[in-house]
Amino acid sequence: MKRVVIIGAGTGGIILANALSKKLKAEMKGGRLEIVVFDGSESHVYQPGNIDIAFRGADPKIFRRPITQLLSREVRLFKRPVSRIELDNRAVIYDSGLKMDYDYLVVATGSVAAPETIPGLAEASLNFHRSQEDARRVWEALSTFRRGRIVVLTALPHKCPPSPVEAVFLIDELMRKKGIRDEVEIAYATPYTRAYPAHGIADVVEPEMEKRGITTYTLFNIDYVDPSTKKIYSLEREELAYDLLIAIPPHRGAEVVINSGIGGEEGWIPTDKRTLKIRGLDDAYAIGDATDIPISKSGVVAHLEAITTAESIASQIHGMGKVYLYNGRINCPLEMGGRRAVFVSGTYTRQPERQNPSIAKYLMKRLFNRLYWTMLSGALEPIFNIYLGPPYDVNEGAEGVEEVSRDRPV
Ligand SMILES: Cc1cc2nc3c(=O)[nH]c(=O)nc-3n(C[C@H](O)[C@H](O)[C@H](O)COP(=O)(O)OP(=O)(O)OC[C@H]3O[C@@H](n4cnc5c(N)ncnc54)[C@H](O)[C@@H]3O)c2cc1C
Repeated sequence: MKRVVIIGAGTGGIILANALSKKLKAEMKGGRLEIVVFDGSESHVYQPGNIDIAFRGADPKIFRRPITQLLSREVRLFKRPVSRIELDNRAVIYDSGLKMDYDYLVVATGSVAAPETIPGLAEASLNFHRSQEDARRVWEALSTFRRGRIVVLTALPHKCPPSPVEAVFLIDELMRKKGIRDEVEIAYATPYTRAYPAHGIADVVEPEMEKRGITTYTLFNIDYVDPSTKKIYSLEREELAYDLLIAIPPHRGAEVVINSGIGGEEGWIPTDKRTLKIRGLDDAYAIGDATDIPISKSGVVAHLEAITTAESIASQIHGMGKVYLYNGRINCPLEMGGRRAVFVSGTYTRQPERQNPSIAKYLMKRLFNRLYWTMLSGALEPIFNIYLGPPYDVNEGAEGVEEVSRDRPV
């Protein structure tokens, strides 16, 4: 019997497991294949919900569900973390020593916010990336804030490129609603040369920030924070005072990736950006935030990489020899407050374009929050396919694909 092992039941891992179990139903029924998913968490959290928790006071419960409810019944879930990945032995280790062999492996272990990697940052700041509890603390701090300077500070790398800018706009909106905007200064500090990494989107975001009296500090690479004086220091030797610091801390790959010696000190898995195979291997893939691919670490990327990988593994198992190549499609909403949003859309060969913020795009984002749980099951794939087409090219080698130079997420 063949075995596919998926490490991580997050956005990418769940979509992949469900898509594969649909494609390989006959093999599974006939006892020729099993799909095993490992994850130590009880629940899957819809992380974009952290925005609503942190800036609208939403109830965290709305945004999490037990993993068992989200996986197809044919998939075997091991509710344990993997402690080591042995690519050379084609095996994973769990429960301090138990070993499970695989024929195909997919690492979908995501990324984590790591404020402790910058001196002073963990003590000085709140964040809405690490957990729902952290996001809740941001809401509590904003609810009692009356006057002074709020700094939203970004460090690289991090997941969801739109989220820092969304935070800034939603804080502005909240302070206006509370009638204290004149008492509150809002500053945004980013290591990029503009308010958003992609030109087309920065062109929309920057004038809006200026209009709302938000000060942007570009090329601000955090060095350390001194919580006693409430000052942030940058590598460029600038300093920035704050009363409330909300940080998007640098992220790291999962511990198991680092401890298995796969992804260097920061834990990003070396991955071919088209085939999604771990470089140098034919039987092991990495998807979602866990990879070192220079693309935004986002749910939509994890989703589309999962769909591409499901096709590739099914083709390998069927002995079809087809190669599926992810085209780098992204499509992330960016809320700008006032019930308006833009969508950051592009591919490996097409940069996101300038567009007007609209209520329609905002409503699409809100609708997606509700459809997310259905989407995990794969039920919406036929609709996505009709409107957007598949997120991969088939049997076209990476050669001949003209690439826009892109060394950072958009
Ligand atoms: C505030 C915020 C807003 C966001 N907004 C958006 C948005 O609007 N649009 C968008 O597309 N994306 C958004 N994202 C990003 C998105 O949520 C992530 O990029 C996405 O969840 C990544 O999916 P993943 O499968 O790679 O990892 P995850 O969904 O994080 O899942 C990783 C899983 O791996 C498991 N795991 C880790 N280590 C082990 C181990 N050793 N053994 C077993 N399992 C393990 C974890 O428990 C977890 O369940 C947002 C994120 C945040 C924080």
